[in-house]
Amino acid sequence: MAEMTSATRERDLAEIRAQVESERDRLAQELARLRGENPGGIGKQAPFHEHPTEHAGEMEEHERLLAIRENLEEMFAQCEEALGRLDRGEYGICRSCGKEIDIERLKALPYATRCIPCKEARRD
Ligand SMILES: [Zn+2]
Repeated sequence: MAEMTSATRERDLAEIRAQVESERDRLAQELARLRGENPGGIGKQAPFHEHPTEHAGEMEEHERLLAIRENLEEMFAQCEEALGRLDRGEYGICRSCGKEIDIERLKALPYATRCIPCKEARRD
């Protein structure tokens, strides 16, 4: 029954794609902004003659920004991955059982790669 993608599903998938694309663009902007605020990038070492503990506050801020950036990068990667699957026609197909993932689930969670039964059964 899930052999043919219905016209309705095609339309829904197009909507999801637009949603994921705008999310990706937003994340790209956010990442660019974060990088711009950290000239030299995260991971830049403090000059060796300064004791690291003197910069504990700065380090915490650094870690906080790093965590935010990693989170954004992960979401960005998920968007790219979802768009890649859309391009290859693999999008919305359960990675575990190969059936179509319920469209409502995809609308709620565009990066879902498993259908609800597989997710709940934790099949891999
Ligand atoms: Zn499944």
